[in-house]
Amino acid sequence: MDNRSQDDGSSADNASASPTEPLRFGPIFARSCRLRCPRCGEGKLFTGLVSMNDACERCRLNIARESGFYLGSIYFNYGLTSVIALAVFFTLFLGYGISPDAQLWPLAAFCVIFPLLFFRHARSLWLGMDVWLDKSQQ
Ligand SMILES: [Zn+2]
Repeated sequence: MDNRSQDDGSSADNASASPTEPLRFGPIFARSCRLRCPRCGEGKLFTGLVSMNDACERCRLNIARESGFYLGSIYFNYGLTSVIALAVFFTLFLGYGISPDAQLWPLAAFCVIFPLLFFRHARSLWLGMDVWLDKSQQ
């Protein structure tokens, strides 16, 4: 079943697969959110819960980058965790008057659990950003 054009919801996805036209941000972001290869949108990035493929099954994009490449994904993970925690804190504190003491443990639990759940997407987004910025990989 070929569902590539349906997955991103845009007709530009097929056009962006052309070797002469650089990939746009939207399709790459959508593919990264689906944990798929940012270049072709079909190959799976992960073989297990945390283990990644060495290369895309379809387009052979190098997924297993040099050592330390995916350390940058921590920026996405930490950044999103911080933004959500701060938004929730200030919304509950300023909007509903919930004290910081009452929010401490639930937000602390969130700050531990969310990065674990977002781990795969952070790596996928990091790889997608690299492909988007480095046109030679497209
Ligand atoms: Zn691919």
